[in-house]
Amino acid sequence: MYSLSLQPYDYPFRRPLKTHHGLWKRRQGILIKLSDGQQRQGWGEIAPLPDFGSESLEAAHEFCQRFEGHLDDGDIFSIGDRYPACQFALELAREALLRYPNPPLQPNFPHCQLLPTGEAALKLLETTPQDHWGPSPCFKWKIAVEGIQQEQDWFQQLLWQLPPHSQLRLDANGGLSQEDAQTWLAACEGQPIDYLEQPRPPEAWQDLEALQHQGVVPIALDESVANLRDLETWLQRGWSGIVVIKAAIIGSPQQLRQLCQQFQPDLVFSSVFETSVGRQAALHLARELQHQPRALGFGVTSLFRGDRQ
Ligand code: MG
Repeated sequence: MYSLSLQPYDYPFRRPLKTHHGLWKRRQGILIKLSDGQQRQGWGEIAPLPDFGSESLEAAHEFCQRFEGHLDDGDIFSIGDRYPACQFALELAREALLRYPNPPLQPNFPHCQLLPTGEAALKLLETTPQDHWGPSPCFKWKIAVEGIQQEQDWFQQLLWQLPPHSQLRLDANGGLSQEDAQTWLAACEGQPIDYLEQPRPPEAWQDLEALQHQGVVPIALDESVANLRDLETWLQRGWSGIVVIKAAIIGSPQQLRQLCQQFQPDLVFSSVFETSVGRQAALHLARELQHQPRALGFGVTSLFRGDRQ
């Protein structure tokens, strides 16, 4: 039996984030603490993202209050799939408790840096000393935001400005036509592109398969695998590309481990702009389940005012 305490938070981002769903100004979530009779403690974080299909913050809060401050292993492992952010938080808080005390875990791979969208990426690279980024940096740049001709021009300049030994990820958030996706693949050929992420929307799964089969650069799924059921569907279909795992909302870590054991997918763990508590939990999972030496998608340090990273 564990004691459960909840600590809701509401942090402003240092700078609002521009997303598909508008301007995102604050991160709200719940830090949870489990403790047991042996004075052990484990922290977890509920960082929902309802736009990606997770439960809402209110639903998560109400769900956790049902336990009235006490729960056991049976409760934790029977959380329904409607509460993926709660599954992540409670299962990993339990694991943290069993490992107590928990020295901070260093990431096993470097972080991928998210470049500003559009032309601002060029300015940033131009004005930042190249050695600032470390020996073999990885960058992510959003595409399918402006017209393709404009973006392809910027892309060519971007390739020139990348520091030596860089890798670049292009993330379209499902916003390309199949024709434009082909144009991007052609432009990527022979360039240091780590992968093209979600060129087509989830419903266009046959297009995504076709792009991956061309073998020009790997295709990564992100929006297509918002939860474990979607992930399972893709893996059963024999997906050979990369899968981005937004750990805090994917669902039960236990079930994720089972899928990984069965299918050995090529995973890249990624942030949902959680605090350092959720990030630590996700890094533990990444260390266990991400086997290819690919940069982690947590290149978003010091997003919050007052967050200690
Ligand atoms: Mg993405």
